[in-house]
Amino acid sequence: MNAIASLARPEILSLEAYAPAAWAPELTRMHANELPWRLATDMSACGLNRYPEPQSEALMRRLAALYNVPPQMLLAGRGSDEAIDLVVRVFCRAERDAVLVCPPTFGMYALAARIQGAQLRSCVLQAGHGFALDAGQLLRHCGPEVKVVFLCSPNNPTGNLLATGALREVITALAGRALVVVDEAYIEFAGTGSLVTEVARHPNLAVLRTLSKAYGLAGARCGSVIADPEVIALLKKVIPPYAIAQPTIEAVLAALDSGVLAQLESRLALVRSERSRLAQALAHTPGVLRVWPSDANFLLVEFRDVERALQRAHRAQLLVRDARPYPELAPALRVTVGSHADNQRLLEAWS
Ligand SMILES: *Cc1c(COP(=O)(O)O)cnc(C)c1O
Repeated sequence: MNAIASLARPEILSLEAYAPAAWAPELTRMHANELPWRLATDMSACGLNRYPEPQSEALMRRLAALYNVPPQMLLAGRGSDEAIDLVVRVFCRAERDAVLVCPPTFGMYALAARIQGAQLRSCVLQAGHGFALDAGQLLRHCGPEVKVVFLCSPNNPTGNLLATGALREVITALAGRALVVVDEAYIEFAGTGSLVTEVARHPNLAVLRTLSKAYGLAGARCGSVIADPEVIALLKKVIPPYAIAQPTIEAVLAALDSGVLAQLESRLALVRSERSRLAQALAHTPGVLRVWPSDANFLLVEFRDVERALQRAHRAQLLVRDARPYPELAPALRVTVGSHADNQRLLEAWS
């Protein structure tokens, strides 16, 4: 076992994985207590009366090809949200082990830690430094109790990429000590490389990727964790056996067809151009104090009067995210880059 896998909870290390009903599609299934008939409304390829293949091989192969990693380094779950939960449950003993987060950031990391009863450490990303990651400061916050470090790049809600050099410094310094989880939910919008290419070299690195943002499949619920095969094997012990539903497997395989992927590229280009148009227009909008530069598909916008901006958006029937609950931020809203027409409506509401 490698040094990172051995940091997992002893109960998980010794856990016997659940053996799901054997998957042998060429044989007649009389072993899983399913109904033998399809419903008249069932348009799926495989039949929803049957349990799906656990960790569908076709899906794993397709996702592994998409991210350019071997299938044994990938686990798919119901969004990266599930991967976040699995990592914390596998590595953190309640009350003893800790999770480190860098606020302001995605709330699911702290929530997963609280649900598990893990301790929470934080190392704040400073607005004065453009919310950049200070590797030295993070490492000073990282005692031996910290088993998992969550870093989000591009970061939600601030929008900035974390510098690869700083990420590498953290990963290298914590080798054998903690699992560093880099959440790349928005990486496709950044136009820079993914850290996925470094996972094979760093057993303590796990990268989260999702189909929910750039791939336009938020409703399908499919995210991946890419990590050392031993870490993946531990996560597989904990994920429910039929986590990915059959309609999701079929929708994802259809969407990751090369023809559909070609269309996604042009959509990404459109999001990037709308992002810069929206950012420029907002910078000249009355009441806007600051528009933070973004590598994602949203903008963090500071307002003199957030309440008024929210009300105006609501009056135009537009939802934007109130970022005031983040104590590390000046009063701001987080705005998703929409279609050209939606962005125009928002700009008019705030003009
Ligand atoms: C949206 C988002 C996710 C994706 O969650 P899914 O469960 O895959 O839909 C993950 N991390 C961050 C930071 C996000 O903003």
